[in-house]
Amino acid sequence: MFHRVALVTGASRGIGHEIALMLCRHQFDVVVASPEVEKNEEVAEEIRQCGGTTMTLDLDVSNRDSVKQGVGAVMTQMGRIDVLVNNAGITRDALSMRMKPEDWDRVIQINLTGAFNMAQAVIPAMMKERWGRIINIASVVGEMGNVGQANYVSSKAGLIGLTKCLAQELASRNITVNAIAPGYIETDMTAVLPQEVKDRMLAMIPLKRFGQPKDIANAVKFLASEDAAYITGAVIRVNGGMYM
Ligand code: NAP
Repeated sequence: MFHRVALVTGASRGIGHEIALMLCRHQFDVVVASPEVEKNEEVAEEIRQCGGTTMTLDLDVSNRDSVKQGVGAVMTQMGRIDVLVNNAGITRDALSMRMKPEDWDRVIQINLTGAFNMAQAVIPAMMKERWGRIINIASVVGEMGNVGQANYVSSKAGLIGLTKCLAQELASRNITVNAIAPGYIETDMTAVLPQEVKDRMLAMIPLKRFGQPKDIANAVKFLASEDAAYITGAVIRVNGGMYM
């Protein structure tokens, strides 16, 4: 049976981990790509358990050589890349006045430049097939702004802009490019927030619960499917109503 190949960055834990498993359950072969060998292998093992074909890439999205080499290895081993999920992301929060230049640079390098590096590397394979899906994991704050996250918010707003550019550039080759803007999702990234911030966030969510990685993975599964063929350049908000 023909399986499409999906490459998920930041698949070692959190939202990316859930996306990798969700796509595997829906008959995609999944490439698990994140910097740490051992964590990638653990996720790959879970994918094998669920019956899928997989490979791991020990890859830093901000390093162009690492990206080029990794994508080359996938093409050699799997022969194709149909779906790219740009999920890798970090935070380095501080008020703008006190933000260290290296924290600004690192967040932009991984969250925004990293997504561009990945897209640029996979586009030729998708163009050849005349089929592709690029799904960028942005954030609610990329549309709302947020105190203490100038680097992160700028990276996510940039990712939404990148999504719209790529959607226009690639539409004629039947490649769709969309962003998902998650609200507050329970992962390691949000676990570190002080309780008072969590309480304030919860009060802002009309559906009265925090999101789970599965809420995002469901939206990715949809955008990767044939059912989403006529959706491109969209920002899908999965945020419990936090921002409308
Ligand atoms: P997480 O639990 O902190 O996981 C982040 C993932 O990114 C990890 O797999 C990490 O790998 C990987 N990563 C970090 N730097 C990387 C690099 N240079 N190259 C490749 N992979 C790298 O975060 P999460 O909450 O699942 O977030 C996933 C995405 O959703 C991020 O883009 C985040 O901005 C976005 N998002 C999250 C929320 C939320 O509430 N959680 C809300 C909105 C948007 P290691 O395991 O090796 O560190």
